Parts: sequence; C-alpha cells; structure tokens
Amino acid sequence: MTDSSDDHDDRADWPTPGPNEPVPAWDEYDQLKEAIHDYLDHEPDNPQWNDIWRALAAMMGEYQRDAFVDAFDLAEPAETPCVRRLITGEGSCTCQQKRDWKQRELETIGARDDPPHAPPYRDHSTLWLDESGDPAVYGMHVYPGNVEMVTPSKTADPDQQQRNGWMDITRWAREWGLEVGFLPLSWYNLGSTVHVVFYPPERFRSNLE
Ligand SMILES: [Zn+2]
Repeated sequence: MTDSSDDHDDRADWPTPGPNEPVPAWDEYDQLKEAIHDYLDHEPDNPQWNDIWRALAAMMGEYQRDAFVDAFDLAEPAETPCVRRLITGEGSCTCQQKRDWKQRELETIGARDDPPHAPPYRDHSTLWLDESGDPAVYGMHVYPGNVEMVTPSKTADPDQQQRNGWMDITRWAREWGLEVGFLPLSWYNLGSTVHVVFYPPERFRSNLE
C-alpha cells in the first residue's frame, strides 16, 4: 500500500481542484470540514445515503432554489410548466388537450412543433414568472445520463439513431429564439442533475444599445 503523503506529492503538478483552504480557518469552517470527513468515513444504515451529495442535496436544495429565484429576479412558478408561453408570451396554455402521444415523442428530441410546449429532454421543469406575472425563465433539471447518449423511440426517429441530447437542446433553443444556460449547481437533487435554463435574449440585454 502506498503512503498517502507520497500520493499527494505525486499530484503536485495535477490541475488544481479549486480554492485553497482559508488561512487562518475559523471554527465554523473547521467544524464543517470535520463533519464532511466524518460523513465520508461512516456507513449509513440505508446505503442510498453513502453518496454524500444526496445528503447535501437534502440539506441545501431549498436554499439553492431560493438563491436561484433571487439571482434571476423571479416572483413565482406558473401553474403549468409550458415553454410555449416563454416563446410567444401567451397568457396561458392548454398543453394537455392539444398534444397527442406522437407529438410528445417528437418533442422529446426537439423536432419542430408549432411552437413547442416543452423543450427536448424536459424533466422536473418549471416556468417562472416575473413580478408582473409574465413568463421570465424556464428551467428544467436533467440527469446527464438521460441526455448525453440517447436512442430515440421509433416514433421520434424511425432509424433510432443514437444522438447527443445536449446538441438537441442548444439547436432547439436557437431555433426558437431563446438563450440557454447550463447551471451545474442545480437545486433539484443537487449534485446529480444539471439545471438547464431558457430565457428570451432581451431579458438580460435591456441596458445594451
Ligand atoms: Zn403548453
């Protein structure tokens, strides 16, 4: 077995993992560090909780959600998570009555609808309204494993060509005149999903000439 201090020496030239530890540290920092080490060293009765990110997600999810809402200056979620309202500015949507199974399958890979009610690979999605009650931002939390290597259903693609869904998402956003952001610090199942955010280009460009 290799001495762990040697391991560290070997890695001196490796890419840095981020900020250095604060010097001097303070009590709360040391307590958190110790708690994290203790957690990583223990075996929970339920093995699902072996993943420390699951524990952090349970503790931090709500905080992270509220921080997102503040950062994007949002008021509340719309009743239905329909992205068509973001594209057209419509006051409401009747998604459920309008779309049959085939349309929804096509929608999954970002095939054109007119205009679409959902982005490709939609999962855990929310349409957020601003203070005036207008659609502002559409967010969805996707598991990379469900997006990166996808084999569509026969209905969506008769050849069932494997595809990279991130490409579908960016192409789709451009087709419908939306900006797209990928936030790694998702607040849904933090540490496991990516928060994909769509918004109209003018939203953050109001001060540009
Ligand atoms: Zn709709």
